[in-house]
Order: sequence, then C-alpha cells, then structure tokens
Amino acid sequence: MLVNAYGAHAGDQPLEPLLITRRAPGAHDVQIDIAFCGICHSDLHQVRAEWPGTQFPCVPGHEIVGRVAAVGVHVHGFRPGDLVGIGCIVDSCKHCADCEDGLENYCDGMIGTYNFPTPDAPGWTLGGYSQQIVVHERYVLRIRHPEEQLAAVAPLLCAGITTYSPLRHWKVGPGKKVGVVGIGGLGHMGIKLAHALGAHVVAFTTSDSKREAARQLGADEVVVSRNAEEMAAHAKSFDLILNTVAAPHDLDAFLVLLKRDGGMTLVGAPATPHASPNVFNLIMKRRTLAGSMIGGIAETQEMLDFCAEHGIVADIELVRADQINESYERMLKGDVKYRFVIDNATLAG
Ligand code: NAP
Ligand code: ZN
Repeated sequence: MLVNAYGAHAGDQPLEPLLITRRAPGAHDVQIDIAFCGICHSDLHQVRAEWPGTQFPCVPGHEIVGRVAAVGVHVHGFRPGDLVGIGCIVDSCKHCADCEDGLENYCDGMIGTYNFPTPDAPGWTLGGYSQQIVVHERYVLRIRHPEEQLAAVAPLLCAGITTYSPLRHWKVGPGKKVGVVGIGGLGHMGIKLAHALGAHVVAFTTSDSKREAARQLGADEVVVSRNAEEMAAHAKSFDLILNTVAAPHDLDAFLVLLKRDGGMTLVGAPATPHASPNVFNLIMKRRTLAGSMIGGIAETQEMLDFCAEHGIVADIELVRADQINESYERMLKGDVKYRFVIDNATLAG
C-alpha cells in the first residue's frame, strides 16, 4: 500500500513529500490512519544524521496518534475506529528478560519506529510523518482522552513516557524535591507530570522569558541556570534532577544541587558528549548519575491512563506538513511552547 509521507534523502537536505509503502496487516497487526504526529528533538538528531547510522530516505516521527483502520485476524484487543497511539517502539524480541518485565525499551532486539531494521521495504522502519502505519498489536496503545484533545495527546507517546518513566523509577511523589532541566518538549511534560505526582518541582531554564510560563506548567520555583546565585540557593537539596537538555553542558552545576543519595537522570541525548563530571561531586554525597530511555509498553499505557485521569496533555502548536523544516529551525531556537505537532491530513497530495 502506497501512502504519503514526509522525509529526507540526506542529512543535509530538507524534508520533502515522499511516497512510501506499508505492509498489508498480518494476523497480529493493527493498521492505523495517523491523525497527528509530534515533532521530537530526536527526529531532528536522526534525520540530520547528527546521531550515527541514519538510513535514507528517513521518515521520522514517533509520537503517533490516530484511529484503527483495520486489524489482523488474531487481533482481539483493538477494533476499527478505536483511538490509539504508537510511540518509539514497533517491535522487540518478545521473550528476553526485558520484554518479559514489560521493559521492551531495553530489549537488545527493540525495533524503533524509524531507522531500525525491518523486513518491510525499504529495509528500515519509517515513522509517523506519514498517513498510515502498520504495527504488531503488542506495541499499540489505547487512548482514553476525549477525541478533541487528540493532537495534544501525541507528544505523550515520547515526551510523556520519557519523563514519566524515570519519575516513577525514582519514586517521585509528595515530599520529594524534583528539578527539571530544560523546558522544551520533554521538560514541559516532566514539570506537568512531577507536579501531578505531588512533588515540589523546580524548573531550570536558560531562557529568562520562560519564567512565568514554567510556573503555569506546574513548577513551584523557577531557576535561570545561568544565574550562579539562584543556582547556589538550591545547593544539596534535590532528591532527583531530570535533565532533558539536547546539548552538551556543565553537569557539575546540577550534581552539586543533589542532596545525599540524590540522583540526576539524563534523558537528553546530545550528538556530542558532555565533559566528564567531577567524580568528587558524586563521591562526596553518594550521588548517582543515571540515564533513562523512553519506557516500556505497559508503563506507556499506565502513563496515558494517568494523564487521561488527571486531564494532562502537552502544550502544542499544530503545523502543516510543509512547515516541518521551519518547525525544526524554531525548535532549535527554543521558539515553541512546547511541542510542534503535525496535522497529518496535510500530508495528502
Ligand atoms: P527540545 O524541545 O528542543 O527541548 C530541549 C530544551 O533544552 C530546550 O527547550 C532548552 O530549554 C534546553 N536547551 C537547549 N539547548 C541548550 C543548551 N545549549 N544549554 C542548555 N539548555 C539547552 O527537545 P526535546 O524534544 O525535549 O528533547 C530533548 C532531548 O532529549 C533531545 O536530545 C532528544 O533527542 C532527547 N530524547 C531522549 C529520549 C530518551 O529516551 N532518553 C526520548 C526523547 C528525546 P530552556 O530554554 O528551558 O533552557
Ligand atoms: Zn522522541
């Protein structure tokens, strides 16, 4: 089946309209008409070949929402017309310890929604900047938000789960002081989720202009991280700092803000490494520097249900397909509050 998509032929080329093929749904597959797809900073890293190994043509997009169009004969959990989502994972080995624990995101055989090997043409997965996608039922998420919120639900499929998973892993809740560094697509979700989980939330931003907006997202305090005095006022006080920054920066400036046994989890994935942190900043207070990658399927469903229950969606700016390249430039300038979402109806013709 041929469908319209948007993608790039090389890392230094803009994205443009493409025709791609999708397989006919197999016995366990769900075929989805994509309504909206969020624009994640990872899409930009990958399609511009900032991360190694990009296969071209590259069609990014892993914050996918839409309606089920058809299901395979053995699919019982979904029916045509259901509102569903696809995040960053479209396959995994299904039998390793990670898959059995519901942590398919850490399976060595995890297949990402774009740029991972597949028997389907052209040999690597193509993502959600497209009209349709066909995915094994195990990786399809149910959306319980009202339909009018669908576009703003899309970013939950990556930005939402990538921040929810470490917040839960580190047992964030009432009585915990949590920092969120970088108020972009991931960071703004991190603030909303940490607030909803009952933590005291401090937002760290490089942008003075985001001060008020961060409070509206649910931050109890806002620190402009370039201001040494404001930073020093929070020394040795955090249980957890969730760092979403997409560029290398000074990690020590944040490690010293952790209290004894506190941890900083990096989810931002810059194309070039951070300078190594000063180990004394870890040793002195038994601090932890950790990482986290998206989340498992069960946890993603839990996050979607938590968000539906608490009325949480992303703050978005809806764009047409022909605005994707411009949206990338604006994302790099921090000129978006806080996630671009593509209206996939604009991919047609
Ligand atoms: P984004 O919307 O561009 O937000 C990143 C934020 O980081 C910016 O809004 C900005 O916030 C801050 N920032 C940017 N450049 C900075 C710099 N040089 N120094 C300090 N702060 C800077 O990006 P995103 O979509 O949230 O993604 C963030 C990162 O997470 C990307 O690297 C992405 O690839 C990665 N990611 C990882 C996972 C995972 O599983 N671990 C999943 C998805 C995305 P302020 O203006 O507030 O400072
Ligand atoms: Zn993403």
